[in-house]
Amino acid sequence: MTKNIFGLDLTSLQDEVKQLGMPAFRAGQILEWLYQKNIYDFSLMTNLSLKLREELPKIFSIDCGKIIIQKNSIDKQTSKFLVEFADKTAVETVLMRQSYGNSICISSQAGCKLGCGFCASTLHGFQRDLTSGEMLAQAMKSQAIVTKEGQHINNIVIMGSGEPLLNYNNVIQFIHLVHEKYCMNIGYRNITISTSGIVPMIKKLAEENLPLTLSISLHAPDDVLRSHLMPINNQYPLQSVIQAADFYAEKTKRRITYEYILIDHINDNLLQAKQLVNLLSHKLANVNLIPLNSVVERGFRRPSSKRIKTFTDFLQNHHINVTLRKEMGTDIDAACGQLRNKHLDKTNK
Ligand code: SAH
Repeated sequence: MTKNIFGLDLTSLQDEVKQLGMPAFRAGQILEWLYQKNIYDFSLMTNLSLKLREELPKIFSIDCGKIIIQKNSIDKQTSKFLVEFADKTAVETVLMRQSYGNSICISSQAGCKLGCGFCASTLHGFQRDLTSGEMLAQAMKSQAIVTKEGQHINNIVIMGSGEPLLNYNNVIQFIHLVHEKYCMNIGYRNITISTSGIVPMIKKLAEENLPLTLSISLHAPDDVLRSHLMPINNQYPLQSVIQAADFYAEKTKRRITYEYILIDHINDNLLQAKQLVNLLSHKLANVNLIPLNSVVERGFRRPSSKRIKTFTDFLQNHHINVTLRKEMGTDIDAACGQLRNKHLDKTNK
């Protein structure tokens, strides 16, 4: 069986080509074709020796996935697409064209194990971890789209389907790769990891000494409600998550973002806003409020604009840095996992 070359970094590929009895510099040439020129056929890599062009396909495949569905929002700011890999695993990626740059939201796993009550990604269960190459494929597909618009990808958020810290090694490998100049040259500060709060892995991430942005999905200000919404809270309760995030902020000097989905009459009353202030006052943190994207199967609703405003104002008046997530792509199934679910529903029929 051939090995997928897409997603290898320079050092690993240098080792591979040396084993083939070829000089190490060939690895750089191959990666330039793959990561800069978007050429996915060894026979077209014209600066390689003929022998190498013939040998490579016997050892390597090039699986950079293909876009099988793409939806663009009416305002053209958001594109959402499903990337399918050779084994038919499909994952979704969102491209958001914002005034401060182009951001992409990529998936780290196909499906999810966590079972959060409001989330669509979990509805079909967990399929498998994605490799670093499959995460890179999502980023490069997005780059190819914006290249046609004369643009670049500026920010990557690992906030699509899956829990990145439960696929730790592949995610870290991807982050290093996408940062490389020979790849996409994305600064670490422009990369965000969003986690439901896998405490030991947050601590491990802090020790990597990378200035990544860390987002914590909080969604409730007390353990009872948080465990109800996010079963992972039974394993890693609220205070342990906040302590781990403090450790991350201390180590990296990076401000933590706490994500808080607003769900009508579940976590959006003023007492809860007050509890949230108590938890986060005087921390190097900001709160990103996300009005729920309704997932019909889940039965939770988005609060009224009035309730959203009251909650937001309360936090602001108590000196919490708050941002209210701007809605993008609601006309194209923007909630995590919705596009993939529709695809799975169709293909399973
Ligand atoms: N597992 C990671 C990353 C994936 S979820 C995490 O939990 O952070 C990315 C973000 O989208 C999380 O904050 C998640 O809670 C949020 N999210 C999931 N379903 C949503 C929905 N229906 N509406 C709004 N945000 C949602």
